[in-house]
Amino acid sequence: MAFEGLTERLQKAMEKLRRKPKVTEADLRETMREIRLALLEADVNFKVVKDFVKTVREKAAGAEVLKGLNPAQQIVKIVNDELTEMMGETATPLNKSAHIPTVIMMVGLQGAGKTTTAGKLAKHLKKEENARPLFIAADVYRPAAITQLQQVAASIDVPVFEMGTDVDPVEIVRQGMEVAKEKHNDYVIIDTAGRLQIDEQLMEELAKIKELAKPDEILLVVDAMTGQNAVNTAQGFDDQLDITGVVLTKLDGDTRGGAAMSIRAVTGKPIKFVGEGEKMDNLDVFHPDRMASRILGMGDMMTLIEKAQENFDQEQATQAMAKMKENSFDFNDFLDQMDQITKMGPLEDLLKMMPGMANNPALQNINLDPKQFAHIKAIIYSMTPEERENPDMMNPSRRRRLAAGSGRPIVEVNRMIKQFNQMRKMMRQVTNGNLSGMENLMGG
Ligand code: GDP
Repeated sequence: MAFEGLTERLQKAMEKLRRKPKVTEADLRETMREIRLALLEADVNFKVVKDFVKTVREKAAGAEVLKGLNPAQQIVKIVNDELTEMMGETATPLNKSAHIPTVIMMVGLQGAGKTTTAGKLAKHLKKEENARPLFIAADVYRPAAITQLQQVAASIDVPVFEMGTDVDPVEIVRQGMEVAKEKHNDYVIIDTAGRLQIDEQLMEELAKIKELAKPDEILLVVDAMTGQNAVNTAQGFDDQLDITGVVLTKLDGDTRGGAAMSIRAVTGKPIKFVGEGEKMDNLDVFHPDRMASRILGMGDMMTLIEKAQENFDQEQATQAMAKMKENSFDFNDFLDQMDQITKMGPLEDLLKMMPGMANNPALQNINLDPKQFAHIKAIIYSMTPEERENPDMMNPSRRRRLAAGSGRPIVEVNRMIKQFNQMRKMMRQVTNGNLSGMENLMGG
């Protein structure tokens, strides 16, 4: 999980402040010291940390935070706002050409995730805009690179233009662009060669491709796990190619966060997307404000809601709400809801987006094994249709029968039914506008 250490340290610093009945100048200094150390330890660029702490301190002084109500809360807000600003404030969309095709050139060091990201991006464009992208395979140094791009492309049904490894990459790009024009592709995504380090020869080649293709977007792909190296790489590529944006990959790993927080401040170029896994769906638009709340452990409710909207069947959800309201939510509805939640991705990932959950110690003890879902389903499948529609008829002898039928222990059957009833009760409160049930659940 990304940012774990940082989130924990920042939360601790804020928590300490929150517990004080009155915050003094010295308390504020101490908090700023802790924030500074936390950021440095997360591998945030030294100069960026210095500027950050200075701004937060000035804002806190300017707003006369210490004299106002809830100084701790105000400081959290200032830190949150500054983190957001440091990462670019709002999401930066892809540049688009006025006439097709829009040309996107992918650059980056070997292993950063360039080819994978090219694939994710093409899939994203297909899904969001119904786009018809064409890949150009311009990495001629590793024969495997072309095969890899072809495999990625086949999995998302996108064509690849390639001329093997014996042709000059600039010529490949020239011919590929012709093909895209002929075929009316609206996007061209050029997969270029990477090296282990920035070298002159590579940069010269990329500069020639840039000159010829006049890309609307030069996306640099960097590996978040490499911390400050990612920042240096970004600066190096930007000096030579004047990149237009960055994709930060491997944010699903346990990166400390330095790259995410420094790249914009150091290069002035926006992070446009983040990669959060190896699958073609694991690409997200980078929202600085959401990332800031995630770093502060305040959750990322917006992304959670979006994922829910993408995956939830609206009609079914409305029906379920209506049923909860009239208290007729039954085990069949429960099964439907479970199926929809499963579609949203691993439960741990979802929970961690909820406020206060990212580093919640209680989470560490929760067993979110997908097998548990399968067990719950097995129990429900063992019910008669009548039982499924009438959750209140589950008496002890029926429960014993369910345990035998599903092969699960009786305690598990009891627990499931109890949880189901609690959920029903809570949902009824929520749908009837009484939110206290939800607040209790969230520890509010
Ligand atoms: P390239 O050399 O820059 O083209 O890098 P590749 O696209 O071949 O990726 C290198 C490795 O990183 C592959 O194993 C990818 O599956 C993996 N990878 C790429 N992006 C991500 C990501 O966001 N998360 C994770 N966990 N792995 C990634």
